[in-house]
Amino acid sequence: MPPTAIVMYRIADALAGDQLEDNEKGEIGEKGMGTMCVHAGEVIDPSSGTIVTPIYQNATFLYPYAIDEKGNYTDKEAPYFYTRLGNPTVRSLENKVAALEHAEDAVAFSSGMAAVSTAVLSVLGEKGHLLSVRDIYGGTHSFFASLLPSLGHNVTFFDRSRTKFLEELLRTNTRAVYVETPTNPTLDIYDISEIFEFAHAHDLVTIIDNTFPTPINMQPSRLGADVIVHSATKYLSGHSDVIAGIVAGRGSYVGRIREMMTILGGSMEPFTAFLTERGIKTLELRVKKSNANAMALAEFLNDHRRISKVLYPGLEGHEGHDVAERLMSGYGGVLSFELRGRKEEARKVLRKMKIAKIAASLGGVESLVTMPIDTSHRQLKEAELKERGISETLIRMSVGIEDEEDLVDDVAQALEL
Ligand SMILES: *Cc1c(COP(=O)(O)O)cnc(C)c1O
Repeated sequence: MPPTAIVMYRIADALAGDQLEDNEKGEIGEKGMGTMCVHAGEVIDPSSGTIVTPIYQNATFLYPYAIDEKGNYTDKEAPYFYTRLGNPTVRSLENKVAALEHAEDAVAFSSGMAAVSTAVLSVLGEKGHLLSVRDIYGGTHSFFASLLPSLGHNVTFFDRSRTKFLEELLRTNTRAVYVETPTNPTLDIYDISEIFEFAHAHDLVTIIDNTFPTPINMQPSRLGADVIVHSATKYLSGHSDVIAGIVAGRGSYVGRIREMMTILGGSMEPFTAFLTERGIKTLELRVKKSNANAMALAEFLNDHRRISKVLYPGLEGHEGHDVAERLMSGYGGVLSFELRGRKEEARKVLRKMKIAKIAASLGGVESLVTMPIDTSHRQLKEAELKERGISETLIRMSVGIEDEEDLVDDVAQALEL
């Protein structure tokens, strides 16, 4: 009998009432981030002894009920009965992310925007008021600036100069504070521990989009976040091959967000959960490599005669460096830099890059570049771009896990006139 079959036999025994050996339980407790990326949440299917969570590609499950001799009906407890409400593959991913975020629970979504919108709607209740940092993801900004008001909610945006004066922005119906840091594309750093302290002193729910840092570079639950949202499309899945979202946080909030998800319907597919969970197994390795590559590129660009400014919180000259150093354990894989000259020249530099591809999105194994004025921030007017520090030659780069030398060489040759 092959060894795996022995394990299967033991698990079959255990199902019949025997004790499981430690090796068969798959319980590891709280461990280092690399270990948890690999093991946390993984499901050992007792019928086959799986090492990897299986893809339970099911829409529905045996209905949990019982009838007595008289034919009377009673509900039975069962973990799953319809995949929009819950699925074992999706649950496995949720448990992994909850463990990595040191959160009580998590719930997965079909996209980052489904996660953001459902979480915020759930927290705002009826006719709520939200305080939000100004420099947030474009889709989130549209949701806050147009859709929420049309549903009877209000949103007040604030920038970094206002974070010490948030009290002036409070209303009787203010319910929550929403932050994103580092910001896109200027990599500004908000001091979330300060903002969250203020929020909790005023009974506000604290929500953070942790897509950019990932739990490897920042642990918002330890800094006072109640609700942590992710576009898992980015670093968590990490291979630019799925659209996915997830919310982690305090159990009571996540429970309500899950209830709202089952109504609004933005739940995650089992196969997406499988790919995302598979991606997370290498999250720590990938994020650390991206951090190191981005730092090397930032240093190279900082000394380059054609570059007027490098925006990367890992650089000591960056305005947010000290706060980032206090709050984060890595500075991330995204950096932006400004070319001396005109936008036409910046566009040419982009097109000369061979390794980094010109595309939206970030957080994948491959390096990607964009010019915010041509892509993510195209709809902003000149005055707004200026206010946000987005110049017409700003280039944003999501640094992948390629070899550091190759990336530096590629950017160097693209900058040659
Ligand atoms: C991409 C992104 C989102 C939206 O996620 P989708 O998966 O595209 O819906 C939200 N927040 C941030 C910071 C993002 O980068």
